[in-house]
Amino acid sequence: MANAPCPTYGVHRMISRGYTVAWDHNTRSKIASLIGWYRCACGERVITGGTPHFGGAILDYVTEGGIKGTAVIGPASGFLVQRSLIRNTTSSTLNGYRFYSA
Ligand SMILES: [Zn+2]
Repeated sequence: MANAPCPTYGVHRMISRGYTVAWDHNTRSKIASLIGWYRCACGERVITGGTPHFGGAILDYVTEGGIKGTAVIGPASGFLVQRSLIRNTTSSTLNGYRFYSA
């Protein structure tokens, strides 16, 4: 999946926005491997399973193109995700993205 360069910074500066919940946007089943989200000033969002803002592995992740919406399901608010666009990496960076705590 090609990702557009950041119109603000060139390389997206993804700031941690804390924990979240992700669900499959077709089935509404929870995707337990996605637990934290990040947002760039340009609006690009990424949801990951790891802690790249602390130098850890990204693990499972989905970028803006795979985020289909937001939802509140039961006690949780989070994101609806296209499961087929989830990727995985053991790196703490992605081409075009860097991750920060704040
Ligand atoms: Zn950006």
